[in-house]
Amino acid sequence: MESRAIVSYQTPSGQRVEVVKQTFSSVRKRPAKRVAFVSGLHGNELEGIYLCHLLIRYLKNLQRTQPKAFQGEVHIYPAVNPQAISAGSRLWPFFSQDINRQFGGDNGNSLPAQSASELLDDLKSSVDIAVDFHASNLHLKEAPQIRILDGLHKNLLPLAIQCNVDLIWVHPASPMFESTLGYNLNQARVKTLVIETGVGLRLHRKFADQLFQGMLNLLHHTGVLVDTGSLPKIDPPVIAHPSQVALLQSRYAGLFVGHSDLKKNVAKGEVIGEVLSATDGEVLQEVTAPESGFLFTVREHPLVYPGAPLARIALRDEGCP
Ligand SMILES: [Zn+2]
Repeated sequence: MESRAIVSYQTPSGQRVEVVKQTFSSVRKRPAKRVAFVSGLHGNELEGIYLCHLLIRYLKNLQRTQPKAFQGEVHIYPAVNPQAISAGSRLWPFFSQDINRQFGGDNGNSLPAQSASELLDDLKSSVDIAVDFHASNLHLKEAPQIRILDGLHKNLLPLAIQCNVDLIWVHPASPMFESTLGYNLNQARVKTLVIETGVGLRLHRKFADQLFQGMLNLLHHTGVLVDTGSLPKIDPPVIAHPSQVALLQSRYAGLFVGHSDLKKNVAKGEVIGEVLSATDGEVLQEVTAPESGFLFTVREHPLVYPGAPLARIALRDEGCP
């Protein structure tokens, strides 16, 4: 494994901060494929950082014991926004900027914008396929999923189904995504999958283990790794197009109390939770599944206002228009 700092700068107090990339080279002169794993664009999303740890640990051992397994190249960028990660915050501290809204276009000369541009250039010049790991915030718990912008799905679905996620959500496109890393890499013909999982500032071992198997499968499927013994076991995902996702929202301000965890087969009418009045003992809203399907998002944060998201369900085909 070779380590390289792709971004390096000094803080006002004199510390040096580096964005590190770990490279596992191919035994071939022309690598089969070059795959990147990126995590930590948002410093409060820790699942991907843990997953990169698992991948680096596995690949280091594999390189020692079976160097010929590496027919392609793997580049891992485990913590691309180090200062936000140190603070456990979504935004880059001091600048209060979301680095995942700094890609492409002219974003000026700020340190987050320069850092984004160096990361994007490095990825464009070194890989064919990228996986960008994100977690949810503290409000919502998400089942391991890949979100693909509508329009890119024909290109990305064949790779996405190799990743052992529970759901692939083909998401409506919006101008908001045009400054993200995933969008800009896909524009530059680096096929990029954006994974969303878990809860902000938390780790779920089960989700990480599931995604770890998925990433190993992706590396085998793309020919980057060969002959490592038994192939990872993966399950096919649910695929939901924009019209197949129902969002349930709070109609009131109050406390949301969940009655259900994430669940593959929620039945029409099943109670997902309740919104309760803080002051007069009333149940304001019983939150039930409008159709049967896969309950893939559930609210974790109890405080709600009108419009707050409570749950999402990927509806079964028969329930869709
Ligand atoms: Zn994120």
